[in-house]
Amino acid sequence: MTHCGCIIIGGSHAAAQLAVSLRQEGWQEPITVISDASSLPYQRPPLSKGFLAQKVTADKLLIRPPALYETNQIDFRLQQVVSAVDPVNKQVTLANGECLAYSKLAFCTGARVRRIEICGADAKGIHYLRDLQDVVGLQQALTGSQQIVIVGGGYIGLETAASLRQLGHSVTVIEAAPRLLQRVTAPAVSEYFQRLHEANGVTIVTQKQVAEFVTAESGVVTQVLCTDGSTYPADLVIVGIGVRPNLELAQAAGLECADGIVVDEYARTADPDIVAAGDCAQHPLPYYDQLKRLESVPNAMEQAKVAAATLCGKSKPYQALPWFWSDQYQTKLQIAGLNSGYDKTVIRGDQTTHNFSVWYFHEQRLLAVDCINQPKDFMLAKALISQNKAIDQSQLSDLDFDLKTWL
Ligand SMILES: Cc1cc2nc3c(=O)[nH]c(=O)nc-3n(C[C@H](O)[C@H](O)[C@H](O)COP(=O)(O)OP(=O)(O)OC[C@H]3O[C@@H](n4cnc5c(N)ncnc54)[C@H](O)[C@@H]3O)c2cc1C
Repeated sequence: MTHCGCIIIGGSHAAAQLAVSLRQEGWQEPITVISDASSLPYQRPPLSKGFLAQKVTADKLLIRPPALYETNQIDFRLQQVVSAVDPVNKQVTLANGECLAYSKLAFCTGARVRRIEICGADAKGIHYLRDLQDVVGLQQALTGSQQIVIVGGGYIGLETAASLRQLGHSVTVIEAAPRLLQRVTAPAVSEYFQRLHEANGVTIVTQKQVAEFVTAESGVVTQVLCTDGSTYPADLVIVGIGVRPNLELAQAAGLECADGIVVDEYARTADPDIVAAGDCAQHPLPYYDQLKRLESVPNAMEQAKVAAATLCGKSKPYQALPWFWSDQYQTKLQIAGLNSGYDKTVIRGDQTTHNFSVWYFHEQRLLAVDCINQPKDFMLAKALISQNKAIDQSQLSDLDFDLKTWL
């Protein structure tokens, strides 16, 4: 049986970082990345943004240049799926039947799209957006498409809407909740994005539950039918209703899983030779005193660095503050921290313009800040939250007040 040193399962943001960080931390044995993707790790964020809008080409998507993996002797096994992990004998089995031995193992299995389960869900013209192939398939289908409906008014749905509008397509977004981005932002931010999209010609429909994709005899989607009987013509539908972590492999291997593979602040599972990082892992969040699975590139990278240090026998706890970004048209949203549990918001700036920030508090404590085209507020917010600085909420809305005073 081939001995593969450290085996990393998955081939995206977390895996790419973990492999490189392992060498930086002094790992001497082989490193083998087993990925079901057909190419080396590429960035997912541009898929719904610049790549879909045809401003970024595929060759610019690679996370690291191929030469870097070669120099660091990182062996990629592409288009391979790990079908079983045996932690007792420290082996993985591939879908092609091959068995590989490991000394250490990393789960970077990420997440997959949540599929809609309604009548017509398998019709021709229904698309999802997670992988490069999804976008390439979508781009081919866009030719000649007249009416696009996007199901889901979260980040993926809205970024996709913005990119497709920039290409001149007619777009309707249907969201089940009363407002866009309801799960993740305050009403002021939802209202801002609704206005932004409507000003750019997107039809936004909220509080509508999609019931069926109506198809022609050919099996191609023609309409989206909602539970209240309303219909929206569609020859192409993109479903963006969230993701599910890929946990089945870890569960079958006997690892504890909740919303993600359960790890500690060192990215360790209960098995001392197995770590997990990225979208698949649930971990203790510093600053917030809760267990959380995050879905973001900064988290995947930070946790991968932590996991690599752990595998090399070092102790570097996860200390990063969560952050996230979204680009839509000319607007850059940057989010510092996590707003869950907030009981008050303060708006700094004019929410009817394209420049303001929303500050989320629980009692007196600053939890998170959403910054609309306000990179300075974002940088300061990160520092203020991570240093747990006291903030006088009454001074926040005074634009003449210099926030740096609090640092
Ligand atoms: C369109 C889009 C836009 C996004 N925009 C942003 C953004 O603006 N900002 C941001 O912070 N984040 C964004 N994200 C989220 C971000 O891309 C994810 O958080 C990140 O990709 C997580 O990386 P990961 O390596 O943990 O998992 P993933 O990217 O999910 O990769 C895991 C890989 O492992 C593979 N795999 C799973 N099981 C196996 C197995 N058994 N064998 C082999 N391979 C396996 C999976 O198929 C997948 O390819 C976006 C995501 C998408 C899809």
